Amino acid sequence: MIKRTTKFGPCVLAALTAFLFIGGSDAAQQQDFSKIQIKVTKVSGNIYMLEGAGGNIAASVGEDGIVIVDDQFAPLADKIQAALKGLGITDKPVRFVINTHYHGDHTGGNVPFANAGSTLIAQDNVRKRLQTGGTGGNGGSVKFESQPAPAAALPVITFEHDVTVHLNGEDIRALHFPSGHTDGDAVIFFPKNNVVHMGDDFVRYGFPFIDVASGGSVQGMMDGLEKAIAQLPADVKVIPGHGQLSNLDDVRAYIQMLKDTTAVVQKAMAAHQTVDQMKQEKILAPWAKWSGDFVNQDTFIETVYNSLTNHPGPFVKHN
Ligand SMILES: [Zn+2]
Repeated sequence: MIKRTTKFGPCVLAALTAFLFIGGSDAAQQQDFSKIQIKVTKVSGNIYMLEGAGGNIAASVGEDGIVIVDDQFAPLADKIQAALKGLGITDKPVRFVINTHYHGDHTGGNVPFANAGSTLIAQDNVRKRLQTGGTGGNGGSVKFESQPAPAAALPVITFEHDVTVHLNGEDIRALHFPSGHTDGDAVIFFPKNNVVHMGDDFVRYGFPFIDVASGGSVQGMMDGLEKAIAQLPADVKVIPGHGQLSNLDDVRAYIQMLKDTTAVVQKAMAAHQTVDQMKQEKILAPWAKWSGDFVNQDTFIETVYNSLTNHPGPFVKHN
């Protein structure tokens, strides 16, 4: 169940458990996964996108076997395996799982995949945060607890800056961008197939959740995305952390929204407004179309304010 310390309303809870995460296995136990179907979309060449519950999965499926990026929730692992086998391309296993960050809706399947023989790969801070557990959130009204993960859930290979997996004729490259959605984010490039998985640095559910309590920041998210798109071909296919397949124009519109809203919060801070005053004045009303069930205008004001003031909330754990 959701911890008592969380302050979510019922509809936010529904949204969270539907497509985001809270507290890893707690949410997995609460949600009924029996009705979840895994939808497979061919993105390009031998790269597929899998949608079920939780974050989007990217899969490279070929003669050497399978590499997946993120693994949703543990109860879905068998269905994900079946969906990959059902492509009829290879009988070889999922050899590697790359986690884009530590959140439970992206790493929840780590144990069953590791038990099935996959090697888990992630940025250093993903392993640390999975190992220790802790409190995540936006430093304000969004707060959640993660329990320390079991040993089998921990990435076996970690990297500080980047790592490349040479499989299926492609140099699949995971590149770390510091302090975006969390402090352990990786963006995964499939250069031959011209596909990128952005993790939760780019999502399609409106204003993003930024885990300020886990080292994330709105400035880092903007910087990371700008650096990422500068390295990408104009026609790259973009798999977001959540939501539909996208392109670089979608990413640019999202970056612009982050810049504009951050500038408005900065201006209000310069005028010595409090967070409550910013909420009362609805300073993000011009961006209302980005307001979602999970992160609405008020929640995003808190997020940006806490990013800019380096106020990660009361229980932050530093690496
Ligand atoms: Zn996330």
